[in-house]
Amino acid sequence: MLTELQQRSPPSLISLAGGAPNPNTFPFQSASIQLKDGKMVTFDETAMKRALQYSASNGIPELLTWMKNLQKDLHNPPTISYSPEEGQMDMCVTTGSQEGLCKVFEMLVNPGDNVLLDAPTYSGTLAALQPLGCNLINIPSDHHGMIPAALKETLSRWDPLEVHKPGSTAPKILYTIPNGGNPTGASMTTERKKDVYELAQQYDMLIIEDDPYYFLQFEKPWAPTFLSMDVDGRIIRTDSFSKILSSGLRLGFVTGPKPLVDHVVLHIQASTMHTSTFTQLMVSQLLHSWGQKGFLQHIDGCDAACTAGLTDVAEWHTPSAGMFLWMKLKGIADTQQLIMEKALEKEVLLVPGGVFMINSSDPCPYVRAAFSLSTPEQIDEVYTTSTITTQINTRTDLLSFTFSVHRLSEDS
Ligand code: PMP
Ligand code: PLP
Repeated sequence: MLTELQQRSPPSLISLAGGAPNPNTFPFQSASIQLKDGKMVTFDETAMKRALQYSASNGIPELLTWMKNLQKDLHNPPTISYSPEEGQMDMCVTTGSQEGLCKVFEMLVNPGDNVLLDAPTYSGTLAALQPLGCNLINIPSDHHGMIPAALKETLSRWDPLEVHKPGSTAPKILYTIPNGGNPTGASMTTERKKDVYELAQQYDMLIIEDDPYYFLQFEKPWAPTFLSMDVDGRIIRTDSFSKILSSGLRLGFVTGPKPLVDHVVLHIQASTMHTSTFTQLMVSQLLHSWGQKGFLQHIDGCDAACTAGLTDVAEWHTPSAGMFLWMKLKGIADTQQLIMEKALEKEVLLVPGGVFMINSSDPCPYVRAAFSLSTPEQIDEVYTTSTITTQINTRTDLLSFTFSVHRLSEDS
């Protein structure tokens, strides 16, 4: 409330309220950050004082406004209205989308609840959900993501007319990664999203759309999101700047029904207070100087097209978004031991698939490979010893990528 009052106050106001420390005592004075395109982000002394100070828990206003406009232009959600009077939807800034996800789960999930997801799934999601004592129900998926018929089959255990009755065990939330899934690389088709949304309507579930790879879709136009179909206000969407601006700056966004976003903000208030003001101001300055057009041009430069072939050692589906290949190693029942024992020795590091499974100790023949970080030198080195090649062509400095598990699987 205080921050709100302060935001509406004239600059001449002398405030004895609030618990803000005096920034004159802070050792940092100003900052200028050079961008790759030669432009600068600069904080003079006044801006720096603001950057070093506490700020609103939902995010600094100019960054929120920029993001709200982007969300509206990209997804045009049918129920979205950002005016405070009629606002059904809202957004807040989070310290990476992981913070948003974790707080959304803590808000919605009670011990014993049934929660639907398509495993293998992001290990950070499992880490956030498992301590909540819920029952994770896996909905089968393939390289186009969650299979609606399988969801329907699972949901048929419950009567849609009884989901609101006291004591009902019907699931209230469904979690999914719609594009370039971690670890599978799978992307959901528009048809599947529509079918899943319809089932969510029928059983009155919320859908948590965790979409950090939205901007890394290789094919244009980008797929319509669950948010863009949300006529009821049942989508909570988490976005992330991690894969396109910086992962270390820790910036993400939650978009969803206002009462739920408000609760996430209350939780932020009680935990981190807010995402770093410095970080938010720095990114906000960048985004305002770029405009939406400049931002989308930057995204275009992050784009990658991936072509992958099958070999006698592993099999996979070519992803259409994201950073990951999910590979089944032939003739290997469990990759955990293989990775732990052989990977470092062979100087090839992959993530054993088990960590993405609901029960991480079950044998898993898959590994996850990230194709986002290889340099041309590494590629040349790996290429000479590889039997599996995957080539990624991007318009940035990542010209191509070749990846090998040959060294790993030989004599295993
Ligand atoms: N504990 C006490 C007693 C405080 O007064 C404050 C800040 N006013 C905090 C914790 C939170 O501090 P921080 O900004 O480091 O999260
Ligand atoms: N969700 C998924 C599916 C991810 O793969 C990741 C990061 O790997 C995150 C969320 C967390 O991203 P952030 O850095 O925005 O917290």
